[in-house]
Amino acid sequence: MGSAVVNVLLTFNLIKARPFFQLLLLLKICALLLLLNYSPFSYALTVHPDWLQQSLDKADQLNDKNPSLALDFTLEILANPKEILNSQGKAALYSRIAEYNYFLDQLEQSQKYIDLFYTLEADLTSSDGISVLLVHAGLFAVQGKSKQAMELYLQAKNNAEITENKKLLADSYGAIASSFSENYNDSEALKYYHKAFIVIQELGDELEMAYLNIQMARSYSYIYDDKKAIEFANKAISYFHANQYYYDELLAYNTLASVYMQMSEYDNAIASYQKVAEVSKLVKNENFIDIAYIGFAKAYFQKKEVNKAQHYYSLYLAHAPSPSSPFSQLDRILFAGQIAFANQDITLAEESIKEMELVLNSLENDSSTSWHIGLLDLKTDVAVFAEDYKKAYLLQEKARKLVSTYQNSEREKVRSKFKVMFDTDQAILQNQVLERDKQLDKAALENANQQQKLQLIIIIAVSLFALGLGFFINRQLKSSKMLHKLANTDTLTELANRRYTFIYAENKLSQIKKNSGILSLIIFDIDHFKNINDTYGHAGGDIALKDVSELANEYVRNNDVLGRIGGEEFLIVLPHASAEQANEVAERIRQAIDSAKITIDGKQVHITASFGIAQLNNEHSTFNQIFHQADIALYQAKNSGRNCIKLAD
Ligand code: GH3
Ligand code: MG
Ligand code: MG
Repeated sequence: MGSAVVNVLLTFNLIKARPFFQLLLLLKICALLLLLNYSPFSYALTVHPDWLQQSLDKADQLNDKNPSLALDFTLEILANPKEILNSQGKAALYSRIAEYNYFLDQLEQSQKYIDLFYTLEADLTSSDGISVLLVHAGLFAVQGKSKQAMELYLQAKNNAEITENKKLLADSYGAIASSFSENYNDSEALKYYHKAFIVIQELGDELEMAYLNIQMARSYSYIYDDKKAIEFANKAISYFHANQYYYDELLAYNTLASVYMQMSEYDNAIASYQKVAEVSKLVKNENFIDIAYIGFAKAYFQKKEVNKAQHYYSLYLAHAPSPSSPFSQLDRILFAGQIAFANQDITLAEESIKEMELVLNSLENDSSTSWHIGLLDLKTDVAVFAEDYKKAYLLQEKARKLVSTYQNSEREKVRSKFKVMFDTDQAILQNQVLERDKQLDKAALENANQQQKLQLIIIIAVSLFALGLGFFINRQLKSSKMLHKLANTDTLTELANRRYTFIYAENKLSQIKKNSGILSLIIFDIDHFKNINDTYGHAGGDIALKDVSELANEYVRNNDVLGRIGGEEFLIVLPHASAEQANEVAERIRQAIDSAKITIDGKQVHITASFGIAQLNNEHSTFNQIFHQADIALYQAKNSGRNCIKLAD
């Protein structure tokens, strides 16, 4: 069993396995949810005999610790039930057995029990049914069939919506997010993570929130915010350690290692893999050492210590089971090819190339971009070795095209979708606001944040990027890394957030200065906003903020960016606009707000705002200087009775 688990983990090192991870996590959640749901009241719809109910509870508990124990246990119940099982009982067991097998990377077995579940014609809107849909989707995803996977995820989502099964709804959102992420659509992904966040927040379920936080950590890794990813991974590690979830702790270390790999901090990665090895000894499951072996191999390879890489790779091959998905196969073949090339064994490297081409031919093209790029890189190396520079050039050109297609589509998405981007800072802020509304004190808030720690499993998906995308195209992706980081949205107003707005402004400014062009900034701040909050409460204030944002957004041209940079303070960046042109825009917004019929709690509220404008007027100005000038102008507008516009001197 153990080695199968290792195989699961290794599968995780691959891009396409991202949703698979997701599912593993979800399954754990599902198991727990079912557990939580087993109060007689909430479980009135599915009545199992006591003995079965107790067994299912126990299976779920076992699954928490070790899915292989849960699997053995449930198979035993199925084989020797105390009483003849009715179809509901069978459905509950099949659903779990499919889950556990899936968890253990025994995909054929998992599929078998899913099929058995379907033959019962069991209710797909029940918890068991929704779980089965999620597992089934995961199976498609592992095979690279992302369309079928998405269809089932959506079905699961719809069923959870219909039955108001909020927990599974949150899980479905998470799965959909993961699926988007897998297809390089991280902006859509983050939108769904956000949906999950909201549902879970509503439920006030700390455990689920902890799980979700892992996914958010993972998202940070995807958008190359390594610092946050590390922060989250470390939080996870201490949480798991403190609660003696060694299995999860081990996976968390693996994730941390992957993040370090992505950052090219190989010594840190090796130290983390060392921890993986240590914890695996602690849990007396030496099979987990395989994870460390392959980790060491890849880290040393990056450090150009090929002998050590070779050594650990051999250890890994001696211990690890054969790969179970085309993606884990590709991972292995490519790495073997890279090592062979490093050892100047060109024949062996060429064999790997052929093998890879075979596997890749059997897969959907757009779902394996990074492998294609990895393959092209290896082929280039071989061509260079043979001094066939023309071939090498053509291969690299192909690789660059693939990378840039990926980059362009991402850039487009970032540009058009930044309105839906989700940023954990914002989420936490929102959470704080909520907590404040509940009049919890600061200590309680901190406590809640503490509990938003990471449970793992999924976080390993980070390694997909580290060892997948990161491994092959990280080099080429440095520029898109910036774009990813830029893309952040204020969740309340869906405007660009402070960070995005500032970075956008600074970039535009430096471009424009080079061409001796102009740029203007408008800062505006809602007048006496405190009164609105005091009269209508914080929620009322939020409505006003959203309405004002929408109004202002109407007057913002394509190239301008409107961002929320503080509580009720906004910045508009207007490239190529003079102060006069900015003044016209500001005046239209001022009038629109002044004359708008904003209603809060059924009452019409008159809102005004004050504006400050500054223009880039010499080539030496920095963004900070112009921003400061606009801010002073805003201050003057406030002092001149508000609801007016002032231009900086
Ligand atoms: P002035 O005309 O001088 O700008 O007065 P003001 O009351 O608008 O200024 P002040 O900056 O003192 O108040 C801003 C208030 O905005 C204080 C803060 O509680 C509130 N605020 C900040 N962020 C949010 C938010 O996200 N939602 C809501 N509802 N209120 C917020
Ligand atoms: Mg104000
Ligand atoms: Mg203010």
